[in-house]
Amino acid sequence: MKVVIIGTGYVGLPTGVGLAELGHDVICVDKDENKINILQSGKVILYEDGLEDLLVKNFNSGKIKFTSSMHNAVSDADVVFLAVGTPPHPVTKEADLQYIFAAAEELAPWVKNGAIVAVKSTVPVGTGDKVESLIKEVNPASNIDVISVPEFLREGYAVRDFFNPDRIIIGTDSPRVKKIMAELYVFFADKTEILYVKRRSAETIKYASNAFLATKIHYINEMADFCEQSGADIRDVAKGMGLDKRIGNKFLNPGPGFGGSCFPKDTMAMAYMARQFNVNLSLIEDVIRGNQERKKRMAQKILKSVENIKSPKIAVWGLAFKEGTDDCRESPAMEIVQELLKSNANIVAYDPKAMDNAKRILGDKIEYASDMYSALQDADVLAILTEWPVFRTPDFDKMARLMKGKSIVDCRNMLDDKRLVPGFVYYGIGF
Ligand code: NAD
Repeated sequence: MKVVIIGTGYVGLPTGVGLAELGHDVICVDKDENKINILQSGKVILYEDGLEDLLVKNFNSGKIKFTSSMHNAVSDADVVFLAVGTPPHPVTKEADLQYIFAAAEELAPWVKNGAIVAVKSTVPVGTGDKVESLIKEVNPASNIDVISVPEFLREGYAVRDFFNPDRIIIGTDSPRVKKIMAELYVFFADKTEILYVKRRSAETIKYASNAFLATKIHYINEMADFCEQSGADIRDVAKGMGLDKRIGNKFLNPGPGFGGSCFPKDTMAMAYMARQFNVNLSLIEDVIRGNQERKKRMAQKILKSVENIKSPKIAVWGLAFKEGTDDCRESPAMEIVQELLKSNANIVAYDPKAMDNAKRILGDKIEYASDMYSALQDADVLAILTEWPVFRTPDFDKMARLMKGKSIVDCRNMLDDKRLVPGFVYYGIGF
C-alpha cells in the first residue's frame, strides 16, 4: 500500500521505516528541511536501537523516501499518518494542536478521495472530529475518513515495539476503513490483538494508558519514600508486589520521577481535558504535582550528601530521560541538573547518547565529559540519573582512584551496593 507519514520524529520515523520493511511504499514528510536533507542522504536523525540499519536498507531499495513537499507525497497515498508533535500549551498545559491542524490544512488540498487520514499523534478526545471538519472546510470536495490510531511505542525500543506491539488500536466505525487497515497491518494479524473501537475511545485509550503508567511510577516512588522512613527496602517490596500477577512486575522501579516527551505532557493534557468535561481526576492531578516536587527532592538529596563542601564538584551519569534514547525532553536528569545549578555546584556530566541534545538545553552551564570515568575526576559525589546499562557494573577501584569524595547518590538503584569498595557511601532510593 502507499503510505505517507507526516512528521519524522521519534514516532513517525520508526513507523515509516517499519511499514517500509513490511513491504509498503512509504513517503515521510517533514517541514524541517534540515531533517529531510539528512534523511535523503540515507542517515538517521535520532538514536533508536536498530533504526539506522533498517532505514539504510529500505532507503537503498527505494521502499522509503523523504520529502518536505506535502503535495508530491500525499496525492497518491492510501493512508496518511499524522505523527506531528502535540506538546503542552505553555500556559494551559492542554495538548497544543497547532501542528496537527496545520498539517491537516496542508494535506487537505492534495489528499485523494477514499484515502484514510490516521491520527497517530496523541490528541485529546474529539480531535478526530475537528481534523475531519478542517479538511472538509479546506477541500469541500474531499471524501476521506479520519481515524485514530494511537501510538504506544516506547522510546529506546521503538523498532522492537513496532514489530511486536502489545496491541494495535484503531478508532473507526467504518467497515471499509477496517478492511483497508487490516490489509495495512496484515503482518500483525496473528501476532497481536487489533482492537477496533470508536474514534473517541481510541483517543482516550492512549491518555488513559499513559496516565495509568505515570500513576504506577508515582505510586512506587511514594512507596520508596515510605520505605526510607520505615526501615523497609523498596527493592524487596517491589519484588514482592510484582509477583502478584494482578499488579505485574513492570514499572515498579523507584526513581527520580517520570519524564520524557509523553508522561508529563499526557498527564497534564488528561487533567486539562477532565476539567473541561467537569470530571474530577484528583488522582492524576496529585500524580502531576508529586512528580514535579520529586525532582527537586532528588536534587536536595544529592546536595545533602555534600553539604559540608563549598562549591562541590558533582559528577552526573545520565542525561537522557531514560536509557536507550538520546531524548532529553522533560528528562528528570535535566531538571535535577538545573536545580543543582541553583546551588554553588560545579557539574560534569556524561551520557552515552544524549550529549548533543543535553548541550542544546544546558549549553555551557555544565561541563561535558568524554566518557563516564573522566566525569569522575576529583568529583565529591556521583549522581546516577539515567539507567544506562553501562553504569550498572562500573570499575569501583577506578572510581575510588578518580573521585575526591566517596558519595554515590544512585537515583535509579542501579548499583549492587554489596560490590562497592570500602570507603564509598551509597545512597539509593527507598532503603
Ligand atoms: P517529534 O517532535 O519527535 O516529531 C514531530 C515531527 O513533526 C518533527 O520532526 C516536526 O518537524 C514535524 N512536523 C511538525 N509539523 C509538521 C507539518 N505541518 N508537516 C510536516 N512535519 C511536521 O514528536 P514525537 O516524539 O515523534 O511525537 C509525535 C506524536 O506522537 C506526539 O503526539 C506524541 O505525544 C506521540 N507519541 C510519542 C511517543 C514517543 O515516545 N515520542 C510515543 C507515543 C506517542
